[in-house]
Amino acid sequence: MLDCNTYVIKGTPTIIIDPGSTQFLTTLIQALHQDGIDAKDIDIITNTHLHCDHCSANEALKQLSGARILSHPLQNKFYNVTVIETAKFFGLPPMEFATDGYIGNNKLDTADMEFELIPSPGHSPDSICFYCQKDRLLICGDVIFAGNTGRVDLPGGNADELRHSIEELSQLEISYLLPGHMDTVTSAEKVRSNFDFIKRSVLRWL
Ligand SMILES: [Zn+2]
Ligand SMILES: [Zn+2]
Repeated sequence: MLDCNTYVIKGTPTIIIDPGSTQFLTTLIQALHQDGIDAKDIDIITNTHLHCDHCSANEALKQLSGARILSHPLQNKFYNVTVIETAKFFGLPPMEFATDGYIGNNKLDTADMEFELIPSPGHSPDSICFYCQKDRLLICGDVIFAGNTGRVDLPGGNADELRHSIEELSQLEISYLLPGHMDTVTSAEKVRSNFDFIKRSVLRWL
């Protein structure tokens, strides 16, 4: 079973993005402790998209932490495709997923950081990137990785939409590209050359 990269924005409120797979929740809690974060510190659980490797731990983490699960409205709209159809694709039982509320106006803020939520379909129709302009930071889920993109062959995937999403994201000023799997890309120059490489090569073959 796959797991994903998890990002925590410490602050008021403290937000966790993509707690990952339930099977790895104990490991995640230990890793959080090493960073001085207790599960009970978490106020909001949210996701870049609702593939189970990003969100199956939502409910168990909610029980442990008392946090609220907030979703993007597109994740409700495309629930049937991203959760139910994708589970069928892998021959898995559909995951139970309940949200406590929806994020309005594509904005999610802490006292110190403002995030703009950018719908970025292609890998999945409900993919959302979290962009903090002040810190030039993009949490991009499975839209784009270091040296690759998310796959487009899962239910609701669409190569043309992914090309468009990546073109739009490449216009942003980004110094920290924080993807849902594998390595992060840190420095404006490396982020730029990663976008260039993806556009020049990977996107052509999708
Ligand atoms: Zn995914
Ligand atoms: Zn993933």
